[in-house]
Amino acid sequence: MPRLASYNDCTGCMACYNACPKQAVEISDSPDGFLYPAVNADKCVDCGACERACPIVSPLSPLGNGHPQAYAVWHKKDRCFSSSGGAFSAFARKVIEKDGVVFGAAFDEDLHLRHTEVWDVEGLAALRGSKYVQSEIGETFRKIKKYLQEGREVFFCGTPCQVAGLRGYLGKSYDNLLTADLACHGVPSDGIFQKYLKKLKNRLGKAEFLIKNYEFRRRDGWGKTPSISTTSNCRPLYGVDALYMEAFDKSAIFRESCYHCPFARLPRVGDVTLADFWGIGRHGKKFKHNVMKGVSLVLVNTERGYHALSTLVDDTFIEERTLEEALVENHNLTAPSKCHPRRNEIIRAFLDERMRLEDIDDKFHLVDRSLKGKVKMWSLKIGLFEKVKMCYNWYKTL
Ligand SMILES: Cc1cc2nc3c(=O)[nH]c(=O)nc-3n(C[C@H](O)[C@H](O)[C@H](O)COP(=O)(O)OP(=O)(O)OC[C@H]3O[C@@H](n4cnc5c(N)ncnc54)[C@H](O)[C@@H]3O)c2cc1C
Ligand code: SF4
Ligand code: SF4
Ligand code: SF4
Repeated sequence: MPRLASYNDCTGCMACYNACPKQAVEISDSPDGFLYPAVNADKCVDCGACERACPIVSPLSPLGNGHPQAYAVWHKKDRCFSSSGGAFSAFARKVIEKDGVVFGAAFDEDLHLRHTEVWDVEGLAALRGSKYVQSEIGETFRKIKKYLQEGREVFFCGTPCQVAGLRGYLGKSYDNLLTADLACHGVPSDGIFQKYLKKLKNRLGKAEFLIKNYEFRRRDGWGKTPSISTTSNCRPLYGVDALYMEAFDKSAIFRESCYHCPFARLPRVGDVTLADFWGIGRHGKKFKHNVMKGVSLVLVNTERGYHALSTLVDDTFIEERTLEEALVENHNLTAPSKCHPRRNEIIRAFLDERMRLEDIDDKFHLVDRSLKGKVKMWSLKIGLFEKVKMCYNWYKTL
């Protein structure tokens, strides 16, 4: 029987599932709502393809020298529709211009997150925006291999473990593939997210019953709260209503592997790494631009990544910065998140049908109720937080 990653180490990248020629790798839900693979001994012919594809059992050779070049980037059109500066869209548009295909994470109509292929610029809208939940890879890697073998340009964007899974599955490099890994704080499960949505609907009552979309962070600028779109409006969420994001920020609901993630380090796993350029201009060289609309950090890890970045110049702002500045406020680029001491209990509480959001918060105090926390929530509600941040950032550009 083949050896797959252990329960604690398995990232759920699905390389093993895609690699198996006999459909012997079967996927099922764990008690904490994450998807895990298991080998069905009756179907397995012991060919070893799953073991070779698994980037945990068969680690990949590193890309680059561990000292990537760092750039501040934004796409002039898509910046306000993206989570940080729209660097993802900038790369994606170029691949689409060459009749290529882009793979990223999009919600289906029931708000389950899946990796999806997109062939035109309009389709990119569904991929834009960070969704803080694990996306389902399904058969994505098989499709990518087929397109690569047909000579198509392919751009894949995902969490570092997903990029590692794709590379492990492919087993060799392709000149027509560009990969982007995201800086990654960790992922909660779809199971937890769905239970949270149900609790939120119950809390908000009938008028809000149909949640059509969930924005984990708003795209029109940094420092804005999550929100939901319902049939009638877009409603920002604060405090207990945003309990999922409070738990996310406190690293309380991640997959087990996220707390010792082997990809939270340099060298990175993709041709480029995309992140928020937190703290730009605050450490070292000044940055004399408005950062409130969001700035992407792009780390260029390979020649291919460098070539892709150099084709963006027409419609994209690009400025080289230092690697030290890029890393100083973004610890997940080089280290995994620290596990919340009550992680298992908090996950169980989210999954428990009987517990309401207010019960979970009463028990675990996830919402910050200190004076500082209350002032922050109040100033977010009236828009003061954003204005103060804007003044501070303006002052730093002087
Ligand atoms: C779970 C998660 C944790 C993150 N943690 C950090 C962090 O700690 N620090 C930091 O600086 N940045 C983090 N990011 C990345 C950041 O939020 C932005 O996605 C990144 O800066 C790219 O922004 P953008 O404006 O270029 O692209 P956007 O237009 O926002 O596009 C985002 C891209 O990410 C893909 N994507 C969205 N959600 C997922 C998902 N759940 N799984 C896989 N792919 C997804 C989309 O398909 C799209 O390709 C995280 C992202 C995710 C999804
Ligand atoms: S060893 Fe081969 S047949 Fe068995 S599960 Fe792995 S890939 Fe499938
Ligand atoms: S390939 Fe991915 S999903 Fe399969 S065992 Fe390894 S880490 Fe887990
Ligand atoms: S923290 Fe690591 S294991 Fe967890 S989703 Fe991100 S890349 Fe994957």
